[in-house]
Amino acid sequence: MVQSKKKIYSAIAILIVTAIIATLAGMNFHAKRDFKEDIVAGKGVTSTFQLSQYNPNLAGTVGDVTVYVLKGEKEGGSMLVLGGTHPNEPAGHMAAILLEENAKVDAGTIYVITNANNSGFTHNDALEGVPQYIHFTTSSGDTRTFSYGSRATNPIDQWPDPDIYTHSSGQTLSGSETRNLNRCYPGIADGTISERVTYAITTMIQTLDIDMEIDLHESSPEYAVNNATVAHERAMSIASEGVLNLQLDGIQMSLEPSPANLHGLSHRELGDFTDTYALLMETGNPSQGRLRGRTNENLVLTGEDPCYAVAYKLGLLYVDYSAGDLPIQLRVGRHLMGITEYINAFNDNSDKKISVSGIPTYDQMVSSNVGDWLL
Ligand SMILES: [Zn+2]
Repeated sequence: MVQSKKKIYSAIAILIVTAIIATLAGMNFHAKRDFKEDIVAGKGVTSTFQLSQYNPNLAGTVGDVTVYVLKGEKEGGSMLVLGGTHPNEPAGHMAAILLEENAKVDAGTIYVITNANNSGFTHNDALEGVPQYIHFTTSSGDTRTFSYGSRATNPIDQWPDPDIYTHSSGQTLSGSETRNLNRCYPGIADGTISERVTYAITTMIQTLDIDMEIDLHESSPEYAVNNATVAHERAMSIASEGVLNLQLDGIQMSLEPSPANLHGLSHRELGDFTDTYALLMETGNPSQGRLRGRTNENLVLTGEDPCYAVAYKLGLLYVDYSAGDLPIQLRVGRHLMGITEYINAFNDNSDKKISVSGIPTYDQMVSSNVGDWLL
């Protein structure tokens, strides 16, 4: 009798502890889900619209993001910059934000999407131990907070995953890739939330006849396609000129052709389904890699990791890690300089011109902090 009472008491105690842990975890999950990033429109932003304008099936969903438009007084070429395709790659996200908050377009139009997979910003990858937020101090002393998200769409918005993901091309991938935005192009109007977003982006490029598109990413330093630009075959002459100029700027950049048979990726499908010159840039981010040690906000912002320093000495990395770090201002600077040089290359190869000022240079970025360029 005494023993069974003891069992009941211990069972109740375990239940209470479990309920407390579940409540705390649930509150944390809910706060992340509802967190709104304070992204503000820069002085060069001439208008905004919602992405659902190009797919009404997105209206009212987490994927219906704001598109920032920077339109010059003079006619010219047009470009779309995509940040946040993978919300665990913060340099792409922050480069898109810095672009729309700082750039001023004189001729042509630049469209910026800072949170391409907005659902992915509302959660983290399970068991990765990554931070939920990153913070920057602006020159006026304010703190701006941004979400560090997951590579994939939040399962709350898209569930369950199939065992096998069959892309509209017939290509099959692992089921979880159905929530990877960069395997969902050209998209499906009434498909999953990921497919609705990519359909809207594809339709937006077609309808607005956008000349060039750049998708900004980061990748593990041990991943072979790194410090690289991946280009659709029609974009090769622009990409090769841009890569040469980036190398002359002292920025290590290789050029990779978009594989013709790898479907769902922006550089493949946007190049095939629209007339745009489709490009994608990767920069090395130690906080994403499998060799990383303790993963916290400091690692995301500094890229300083002793395990990667050892890996670099062993010749295992595809990026220059001789300094023992890869700070976010350097990674953002690479993306911003890439945007500038691909615009220059576009202007050399097209009758239409894009004229823009105010984009921070690589040298400016490496000698400052990301927060210095935030409003
Ligand atoms: Zn990526």
